[in-house]
Amino acid sequence: MNLPFEADHALQQDDLAHHLHPFTDHRQLAADGGPRIITHGQGVWLWDTQGRRLLDGMAGLWCVNVGYGRPELSEVARRQMDRLPFYNTFFQTSHEPVIELSKKLAGLLPEGLEHIFYANSGSEANDTAIRLVRHYWQAVGQPQRSVIVSRKHAYHGSTIAGASLGGMSSMHDIPGIPIPDVVHAEAPYAWESGKGMEEERFADAAARSVEEAILAAGPERVGAFIGEPIMGAGGVIVPPAGYWQRVQAICRRYDILLICDEVVCGFGRTGNWFGAQTFDIRPDIMTMAKGLSSGYQPISAVAVGERVVAPLLERPGRLPHGFTYSGHPVAAAVALENLNIIEREGLVEHVRETVAPALAGGLGALADHPLVGEVRTLGAMAALELSPESIQPGGNLPLGTVATRVRNLCFERGLATRAVREGLVFAPPLVITTDEIDTLVDILTGCLDAVAAQLR
Ligand code: PLP
Repeated sequence: MNLPFEADHALQQDDLAHHLHPFTDHRQLAADGGPRIITHGQGVWLWDTQGRRLLDGMAGLWCVNVGYGRPELSEVARRQMDRLPFYNTFFQTSHEPVIELSKKLAGLLPEGLEHIFYANSGSEANDTAIRLVRHYWQAVGQPQRSVIVSRKHAYHGSTIAGASLGGMSSMHDIPGIPIPDVVHAEAPYAWESGKGMEEERFADAAARSVEEAILAAGPERVGAFIGEPIMGAGGVIVPPAGYWQRVQAICRRYDILLICDEVVCGFGRTGNWFGAQTFDIRPDIMTMAKGLSSGYQPISAVAVGERVVAPLLERPGRLPHGFTYSGHPVAAAVALENLNIIEREGLVEHVRETVAPALAGGLGALADHPLVGEVRTLGAMAALELSPESIQPGGNLPLGTVATRVRNLCFERGLATRAVREGLVFAPPLVITTDEIDTLVDILTGCLDAVAAQLR
């Protein structure tokens, strides 16, 4: 849809006047004349009001796994809205979409995760996980186990509890965050803290930091460790081989519950249904969102294993937790159909067999680019760490300047990506083809060349 300039400009002015955006520098937005306004999407492609086409290298926000423009999903939503647009799941009631979705998920999840609680967002799912952990330890007579260990660079959401679990300092920049009883270990981030270290030694060191955080808090006070199998928003931080095995052994040693945040990694992104399967993690609790509905409806889920659920189901009184829209029928129906699409079209296998090698090959070839320090890929996720200092030794540009420049140029040239510190991340819709990956790599290469030339 190509809007006349005046109409587009009017929309931008209305947005600037009335819309408070998430994670946005509003002064910069105003200086830029307002937001780019997206009108529609198809497959991996987006269009804006000026008729420009963008390859969505980020699947929206790591969520549009089945790609844009799926009539099956809009049809299911319409039918469910006509039939039962809402009813709650509190107080001894249920409905077919949430029952069918729960059964479907229990069949897909790693063995032992059989009970599912619903919320609307990843943040709420992680808040719920903290509450369930604390209810669990209360129910088994150890209420003092209220501490949750998370990691630097983690992202677990933007509610007060989600931001507290997260390990990004900018998210802790107001009073009261992190909330009490949340502590952070180091991230398994070799580019930052393991350069030149052998992989196994680095896995040891990163896991030891988790143990040190537990010991510092007092193991008898720690209820759970939470981690994304691969840290997404923190910069697609792929842990070294053996890291998760070590972390699991530590959790077992101190009898600490393990929460896997699969909000990004879930539903095919790592080449398995869940990141836990890719890294052989056996979580007690798993949180999910995003790819659960491919972003077509806001819905998240918390899967709880037998150990945690049994005392919660047996204890007298009701579980004092829930959201109006927990298990919303339209969101549940759409999520169920989304899972059917992923299954029917073999998208998990497509990631493993086609997307993963093509991204690894295409982006991997950029490791030799003068502006690139490191390339990491796994499944349909990737990160490039930029090293402007190799072009401008001692240049001392503020961190993020060059990545932001490359990202902005990518948008101008038709590729949506995201800058994280001095790097770029990619997580395209899982339906991406090898030709589209070639296009992604071509646009990116041109932008890296152009920014490298500016720096010389
Ligand atoms: N957990 C992870 C790993 C995420 O990446 C995100 C969002 O990006 C969240 C939780 C929070 O999800 P939401 O934005 O839906 O609250």
